[in-house]
Amino acid sequence: MARATGLNDLVAGPVLPALFIGHGSPMNTLEVNRYTAAWRELAATLPMPKAILSVSAHWYIAATAVTSMPKPRVIHDFYGFPQELFDFDYPALGSPELAAQVAEVVKPVWVGADADSWGLDHGTWSVLAHLYPEADIPVVQLSVDASKAFPYHFDLGRRLAPLRDQGVLIVASGNVVHNLRGIDWSKPDAGFDWARRFDDAARAAMTTDPAAALSLDGHPDYATAAPTPDHFLPLLYLAGLADAAGEAASTVVDGYTYGSLSMTAYALGASS
Ligand code: ZN
Repeated sequence: MARATGLNDLVAGPVLPALFIGHGSPMNTLEVNRYTAAWRELAATLPMPKAILSVSAHWYIAATAVTSMPKPRVIHDFYGFPQELFDFDYPALGSPELAAQVAEVVKPVWVGADADSWGLDHGTWSVLAHLYPEADIPVVQLSVDASKAFPYHFDLGRRLAPLRDQGVLIVASGNVVHNLRGIDWSKPDAGFDWARRFDDAARAAMTTDPAAALSLDGHPDYATAAPTPDHFLPLLYLAGLADAAGEAASTVVDGYTYGSLSMTAYALGASS
């Protein structure tokens, strides 16, 4: 007897891509520029996610935690920006179910459920404002554990891989090169030589052998490119996801801003 199409074939959705987005200035939330245009074009090619897991550079704490509240608050975690940015709202729902799934798939690594302390910070919503401007997909945030070295983050990325099969879009949000003290306001669209060298090295890893990203802290320009690792570490989540998939990532958009930030974004498993 011929086998009918399995139920799983009918109900299983596509494997969701995974992303690393260089988010840059919070003003990118409101601006239309070539980066935000690239993010929007990318989103148009993606299967519709059931939920989004955002790994945000701006939730850099001494633990791995996941937001588990049904309605996360929108956190305006910056100062000195126009009122319009403080007024920006991203009223996405949370997903206690996805938070529980995250805690389950990463075991035996422990992830704490955050029911009321954090929410969605601008690492998440400055990007999602363009990827999903309707804010109609539930969003859960994962913190970046400041107490852990590179291999922990890479491994955690690997462990999150099964979520891609369950309709979850994983978006890691940071910047490969992020040196705020080095900012040169006279260079809105340029990168210093050291920034370019480090970003190029990261790209060589991500687009050929993502596991090689684990060695980027040995690069001679790493200390200048990432004087604190908060914005770099989200990249290791995509590197881990790529390693788990046995695939390399592709570059979505690249460029530099104010000399000391790179805006490079990567996608894994995207069709374009
Ligand atoms: Zn940032």
